[in-house]
Amino acid sequence: MEYQNHVVIVTGGAQGIGRAITEAYLDAGAFVTVVDADPEALDEWTESHAAQSDHVLPIVADVSDEAAVIRLTEATLQHWGRLHIVINNAGITAPGTLGSRPTAEWDRVIAVNLRGPYLLAKYTYDALGRHDQPGVIINIASTRALMSEPHTEPYSASKGGLLALTHSLAVSLGPRVRVNAISPGWIDVSAWKKSAARQAEGLRPIDHQQHPVGRVGRPEDIAQACLWLTSPQAGFITGTNLVIDGGMTVKMIYAE
Ligand code: NAD
Repeated sequence: MEYQNHVVIVTGGAQGIGRAITEAYLDAGAFVTVVDADPEALDEWTESHAAQSDHVLPIVADVSDEAAVIRLTEATLQHWGRLHIVINNAGITAPGTLGSRPTAEWDRVIAVNLRGPYLLAKYTYDALGRHDQPGVIINIASTRALMSEPHTEPYSASKGGLLALTHSLAVSLGPRVRVNAISPGWIDVSAWKKSAARQAEGLRPIDHQQHPVGRVGRPEDIAQACLWLTSPQAGFITGTNLVIDGGMTVKMIYAE
């Protein structure tokens, strides 16, 4: 897919899945505003993509901060003069259990995972809708919106809310803007590798046998789906949730 002359905002773009998404759009010829709350990670991203600097606008911002979202939107429009695609990828989890977790952790997860995408939509939809082809928003949700392991309440609720926000925005913003969600399963980013930490919290280790395709996901699996979902080939798709989990959520668990 060709994205020459297209402008894309990717939140949480410096690391993990977001990093693969920024790289996929750059490889396809797009101009990318890379937003991240972690200045060191964004510096590292910027240095390692110096060869593509004329296609990149790095911005340090917390997506839950309304003033910061207004600033990053204005900076994008001032720098590139247009906007076609927003990928709401930034997301966090809250460690601990229902009993032990401070309530402020609930507020923080909802603020980043749900308020953030709402703010991005609120301040970008007008610019997204100015073109012949509809603008596109993708919200990166999670299979945790559909199924849970113990003690993921803030994260699961935030991602479930994000699916509802997705169809609500699709109805509000059509036909000028298409809005879809992608729900990844286990994706092998650095955070995923902390399975020792999972086991210490009494959670089940992640294994390939959970996946009918025989492997866990790669960040590129999500990035390639974004490229397709924002293309004209996906022009009749809005308000939906694309589950990308190697079949994990459709596999029944049964006694051997
Ligand atoms: P990650 O922690 O590897 O990367 C997230 C990036 O977002 C980081 O660079 C971080 O600095 C940035 N970020 C965090 N809070 C931010 C904020 N308030 N404002 C701006 N940037 C912020 O995470 P990941 O595993 O790549 O996950 C990316 C998205 O995919 C998240 O929404 C996550 O919930 C979702 N997801 C991940 C998996 C998985 O297995 N990795 C599975 C399902 C869904």
